[in-house]
Amino acid sequence: MRQVYLDYSATTPVKEEVLHEMIPYFTEKFGNPSSLYTMGLESKEAVDKAREQVAHLINAEPREIYFTGCGSEADNWAVFGVANALKDKGNHIITTRIEHHALLHSCQFLEKNGYEVTYLDVEPDGTVKPETLEAAITDKTILISIMYVNNEVGTVEPIKELAQIAKKHKILFHTDAVQALANVPIDVKDLGIDLMSVSAHKIYGPKGIGALYMRKGLRISNYIHGGGQEMGRRAGTENMAGIVGFGKAAEVAEANFDEHIRHCKEVRDYLIEKVSKEIPDTFVNGTMEHRHPGNANITFKYIEGESILLLLDYKGISVSTGSACSSKSLEPSHVLSALDVPVEMIHGTVRFTVGDFTTKDDIDYVVENLKEIVTKLRELSPVNSEKGW
Ligand SMILES: *Cc1c(COP(=O)(O)O)cnc(C)c1O
Repeated sequence: MRQVYLDYSATTPVKEEVLHEMIPYFTEKFGNPSSLYTMGLESKEAVDKAREQVAHLINAEPREIYFTGCGSEADNWAVFGVANALKDKGNHIITTRIEHHALLHSCQFLEKNGYEVTYLDVEPDGTVKPETLEAAITDKTILISIMYVNNEVGTVEPIKELAQIAKKHKILFHTDAVQALANVPIDVKDLGIDLMSVSAHKIYGPKGIGALYMRKGLRISNYIHGGGQEMGRRAGTENMAGIVGFGKAAEVAEANFDEHIRHCKEVRDYLIEKVSKEIPDTFVNGTMEHRHPGNANITFKYIEGESILLLLDYKGISVSTGSACSSKSLEPSHVLSALDVPVEMIHGTVRFTVGDFTTKDDIDYVVENLKEIVTKLRELSPVNSEKGW
């Protein structure tokens, strides 16, 4: 059966050239980079090269990149590392209602341990207003953490402006840039941020490897304790293949950046246009103006996104229904709730994310099936357009 993968924001396949670089590090190049003999030094050189490749993609210095076990770990480290290091200065953290759970659940953990967290409201298009941020700052605020690009609706936040407010008040600024990396231009120096989380498996690299950018001169508490790896800040024998793969994925992403953006936008817009034209009672959530190039988050009125997902899966098509709803809980998506999408509409929402390997032909196949599925489900639905909601 034909397979069409439209869930690139959940994860991406490892590109051939990335895999090719990784393979020797499982086999003949297995030396521990902490070892002092040649085999170890060669591994250390490979880590250094990857650190340069990742740093280059975001205009950081290599020594500002610390490899972690994943994007979630980078988020946890930023939040807990700042909270602990600055506990004598204050106990207040500002974040938003639309963050990834790696950030939200870290903040909720801190709330159980004496910290106070403000979860900022967002505008109906998903953006955080600088005034909203500034109004939430208190003399106890030690950290502001606002994601760069939202994983469900694709909204790109005005990070530079938000970071300037943090700077003005001398508060550390962290951004979860896992969805932003290789999808929007990122220059950490120009942005003026202190900490930033990234992950390899969202940019055609391997799973299980992420990084935390930490501005030079900044010291936060360590999170993983043990040996002296990662310049003494993150213990654990290096995930060699993962690190090398992340480096290569960053290099490939940098070389293909313009073409990647152009291709994703073209295919994504083709999907949105076709769905809007051929399937009635649908709308796109978020903003088309400042949006992840591959994201189409679409509500199909009167029916359940879960049912659409399952019926598309029968046709070999992979999509998502917004992180919270997908299999684990029936809670409506916290992101769409924050965007003031009515709860019955949230349940009818599907996230399509395209990538480098998606073709217009794939989209034709998807929309053809989608049309049939939506029509069938609406015929069965107790609430349909005639009865209204
Ligand atoms: C995927 C994702 C993460 C988590 O990254 P992992 O490497 O899977 O732990 C964090 N934040 C955002 C916005 C993401 O999309």
